Amino acid sequence: MPQRFALIIDPVEASEERADFSGTFTVVDAAAPALSVGELSTQRGDGVFESIGVIDGHAQEVVPHLERLANSARICDLPVPNQEQWRQAVAVAAAECPAGEAVIKLILSRGVEHGPTPTAWVTAAPASDFSNVRANGVKVVTLDRGHPLDVAERAPWLLLGAKTLSYAVNMAALREANRRGADDAVFLSSDGYVLEAPTASLILRFGDRFVTPAPTGGILHGTTQLSVYDYLSGRGFDTGYDRIPASDLPRAEAAWLVSSIRLAVPVTAVDGTSLRVDHGLTTELNGYLLSPRN
Ligand code: PLP
Repeated sequence: MPQRFALIIDPVEASEERADFSGTFTVVDAAAPALSVGELSTQRGDGVFESIGVIDGHAQEVVPHLERLANSARICDLPVPNQEQWRQAVAVAAAECPAGEAVIKLILSRGVEHGPTPTAWVTAAPASDFSNVRANGVKVVTLDRGHPLDVAERAPWLLLGAKTLSYAVNMAALREANRRGADDAVFLSSDGYVLEAPTASLILRFGDRFVTPAPTGGILHGTTQLSVYDYLSGRGFDTGYDRIPASDLPRAEAAWLVSSIRLAVPVTAVDGTSLRVDHGLTTELNGYLLSPRN
């Protein structure tokens, strides 16, 4: 594989049925300019995206990612993607991925200003090496997200719950975490509940019960968190969604940030208070997340 692979999709209606959508894909040189300067994704971050983990050419959890892309599109009033067309585009990109870990990104943008259609493209590239952080974990600090837990229903125009391209705030939170001597952040609602990390979901362990913040709180429902819950339920653990007060964080027996590419990363400290790391379960979770999953 060259360093990157890129494919432009000519989006069709969600309801259109075709056995073969390859005629709607154009492979482009990933190193060459491909987008118009009028693109609203670059001008305004107006679009939605997904990042899918690929292991030895197998794209993980494609259907949950495509469903979340469609949900994000609905929240943002973008044309809902044709699931089969995008599934075939993912398969083309996955076939270009090298052995080992790679990442496929799906992007659906509002398109060119005053243009008639959205712009859509898929890229594939080798993933970074996260083995160190999976083994050794991250220190996190809590940061105020600036809105209360119930804001998603009251202010749907904030697009909470959609995976939009507007990640400048998330990246700023990571820089703030670094400034405070930590590796990552956990957002808190302004009324003091745990939300998510800037690029990952949070799972906490209390005895044999695992909890994560309910996705109704305006956070992204993580595909990796869902997979981890499947695995933990299969192992006989109790899993659930809760309102988690920030004061519960340092009380957790163990905690993980989980996401599609970095996978399960243990949290070693919250705001300077050390957390116990369950190395055995972390290795088990990452073993599971690295196995082929549909
Ligand atoms: N929350 C946010 C804000 C994210 O950006 C991500 C992943 O990028 C997640 C949660 C985890 O989602 P997933 O497990 O589907 O990668």
